[in-house]
Amino acid sequence: MKNVIVFVEHSGGQTRKVTFELATQARRLADALGGEARAVVLGAGAQALVEQLKAYPLDVIAYAEDPDVDTFLLDPAVDYLVAVAQSAGPSVVLLPNTMLGRDLAGRLTARLGAAMAGDVTGIEVDGGSVACVSPKLGGKVVTTCAFKNADYGVVTIRPNSFTATAGGTGARTAQIEKPAGKSYAMVVERNVEEASSELGLEEAPVVIAGGRGMGGPEPFTSLLKPLANAFGGAVGASRAAADAGWVPYGLQIGQTGKTVSPQLYIGVGISGAIQHKVGMQTAGTIVAVNKDGTVPMGDFADLLVVGDLFTIVPELTKLVERAKAQA
Ligand SMILES: Cc1cc2nc3c(=O)[nH]c(=O)nc-3n(C[C@H](O)[C@H](O)[C@H](O)COP(=O)(O)OP(=O)(O)OC[C@H]3O[C@@H](n4cnc5c(N)ncnc54)[C@H](O)[C@@H]3O)c2cc1C
Repeated sequence: MKNVIVFVEHSGGQTRKVTFELATQARRLADALGGEARAVVLGAGAQALVEQLKAYPLDVIAYAEDPDVDTFLLDPAVDYLVAVAQSAGPSVVLLPNTMLGRDLAGRLTARLGAAMAGDVTGIEVDGGSVACVSPKLGGKVVTTCAFKNADYGVVTIRPNSFTATAGGTGARTAQIEKPAGKSYAMVVERNVEEASSELGLEEAPVVIAGGRGMGGPEPFTSLLKPLANAFGGAVGASRAAADAGWVPYGLQIGQTGKTVSPQLYIGVGISGAIQHKVGMQTAGTIVAVNKDGTVPMGDFADLLVVGDLFTIVPELTKLVERAKAQA
């Protein structure tokens, strides 16, 4: 394996933040392998996104402004990725570990006869092989697996596992020729709300997370959502809250959930167990709201607010709304 190819996920004319994290890793890996870092951007608006991508240290940005990518389910995108990978030769393809990234990765792995690693949180070149670190069995074990004797490797990377570092190096751009292929499944409707909630949490600048202290599902809607809305952020949760069925597992933050890296994280009624901490510890500012002044999150939070969340959160929401109205 020599080259590293990044699949660019985008929506509404914006490149997903995770793509920049992948592009940064692609540069590092390509340098270690002695190859090139390439990005592939497909579908409506692809050409316009090339400029955003040029801010990152890629060698080649390949694009195809092909409406079939948006009209048909996965097949055209997989055809393009296969064509790019085959023309690049032995390579590692990096995709985000999102719904779309996972779907594409499975098909791509089959089509390329590749090796695959999913939900990767660490990736290195070790003795010429690419080695991937990923938590398995609900986070009980962390595995490292290396691609040996494989021409192609397909890797889905957990968003927010790496920092994106800008620094364009004058990437060449190339339009990809439409590969021959057949598409059978057509998109007839998109569930916009669900799609945005998945990436909304991972890309939100502010995350308000609730734990067992919330006491049930209702305060997530009546207390946390208004605070998140006031900040323009998203609601997350601890595993205790997800296990209790108060919120969907898609909102769980931590070792076996999502990794978030917002500017501001507020943990409400969450103790701060290590398995939760690993999913939010890189947040810019960490605030904890807890009735217990000795709670573990107090050891790594920038601010621990001690008191009853049912009193503090509505007051905080009012303060934020008032500050916004005065701004
Ligand atoms: C293999 C494995 C993987 C795991 N993965 C994850 C993971 O991905 N994410 C995750 O979060 N956990 C994970 N866990 C679980 C983790 O160990 C903790 O059990 C969990 O994070 C606890 O959730 P919590 O903080 O919401 O609950 P608790 O630890 O019970 O904390 C609740 C807090 O709410 C406070 N509180 C209660 N009422 C109020 C009130 N009225 N006002 C203010 N504060 C109040 C309490 O003082 C307490 O600190 C994992 C565990 C294992 C073994």
